[in-house]
Amino acid sequence: MTHPVFPFKKGVFLADFHIHSHYSRATSPNMHPSITNRVAKQKGLSVIGTGDFTHPGYLEELKEELEPEGTGLYVCKDDPDGTKFILTSEVSNIFTQGGKSRRIHTVFFAPDFQVVEEIQDRVGSIGNISSDGRPILGFPVKELVRIIMEVSSDCFVLPAHIWTPWFSLFGAKSGFDTLEECFEEQSKHIFALETGLSSDPQMNWRLSALDKYTLLSNSDAHSPPKLAREANCFSCEPTYEAITAAIKDPGCGFEGTIEFFPEEGKYHYDGHRACGICMKPQETIKHKGKCPVCGQNLTVGVLHRIEELADRPEGFIPEAAKPCVHLIPLEEIVAEAFGVRSITGRVKKEYQRLIRLGKSEMNILLWKSEEELQHIVPDRILEGILRMRKGEIKISPGHDGLYGKISIFSEEEREELHSSKASSKEKAVQMDLF
Ligand SMILES: [Zn+2]
Ligand SMILES: [Zn+2]
Ligand SMILES: [Zn+2]
Repeated sequence: MTHPVFPFKKGVFLADFHIHSHYSRATSPNMHPSITNRVAKQKGLSVIGTGDFTHPGYLEELKEELEPEGTGLYVCKDDPDGTKFILTSEVSNIFTQGGKSRRIHTVFFAPDFQVVEEIQDRVGSIGNISSDGRPILGFPVKELVRIIMEVSSDCFVLPAHIWTPWFSLFGAKSGFDTLEECFEEQSKHIFALETGLSSDPQMNWRLSALDKYTLLSNSDAHSPPKLAREANCFSCEPTYEAITAAIKDPGCGFEGTIEFFPEEGKYHYDGHRACGICMKPQETIKHKGKCPVCGQNLTVGVLHRIEELADRPEGFIPEAAKPCVHLIPLEEIVAEAFGVRSITGRVKKEYQRLIRLGKSEMNILLWKSEEELQHIVPDRILEGILRMRKGEIKISPGHDGLYGKISIFSEEEREELHSSKASSKEKAVQMDLF
């Protein structure tokens, strides 16, 4: 896989729509506009979702901290030139349809606080929207789409991470085989699909049924550092109307996506985490879908599910396909370059230093040339960035809820680093000082 470094036009901006607030389960207390505003700037995002607008307590916070810009987007009152916020929220519908139990996650966009209040009134009268930032509703998702589009036809519907086995439109465990089966007469409101971390546009291009939908990518961040791990690129005006119009008609300024390497996603391959089993789709079929250790059903991942529904071979590129770039978060590249497996204090410090010099993470990963980077990035990190850009990396695929593991440097290179460190303390000191 090679990735062009500059597939996007100049003057574009990046937007990450699907995130969560501190009101969602398993989410960092730092998921709060004052903090996400700052981190989004470091990442290089111009627009981020608020997440969780269905939560009444969070809406109060948003009203206190944000002010309308007059464009359908909001900004922090104390940083009006900072990140722009778009009102978004994810909802989980758990229901029975067609005789089967279904669990579907959907992201909604709204143009202003008034519309959000009305959505809260309508949905709050038939379901519990206060217990979680991402509420669970016990009725069909098509009903929710009907209600929200009735409140305002300016709202926008985005089926979330459409391939994850649990909780998604096409999920192997509790999804549907076609979009129309799920949304029925409400399908007319759907113009875009979120590919999720475990799949990329290339994988989705294999289904001709998806050609008419714009493929979006978002971070689904539950903590600030995860922002922008996937994002969308636009060349339109940064307004609610222009952004949603560009998603509906990509000719009006939707330019493509920033992608996670899909193998790094939590549900790329099949597997059974408890037994340490990870399998390619072909192997799963050979084992008749059963875990060879415990005999239980394997969790079928995204690659397998796409293979089941695809009507085109691997590598097919539809005519209207938009460019996408696969990136590895800068902290992970720094950790790899340092030869450590996790984001240590030293990694975070180096990350902050690079951001100060390079202005933003996306500037460093995406926009700056090799020559420009040479002035600010130590050799080994630069080598990591260049290998990422060329796709010259190894990934042990994610499965059954476990993230995949990226290796930019080989075991040999890693050992060289450690032995050179041990033999020359001076060199290590120099690297720290760089
Ligand atoms: Zn979700
Ligand atoms: Zn989410
Ligand atoms: Zn097992």
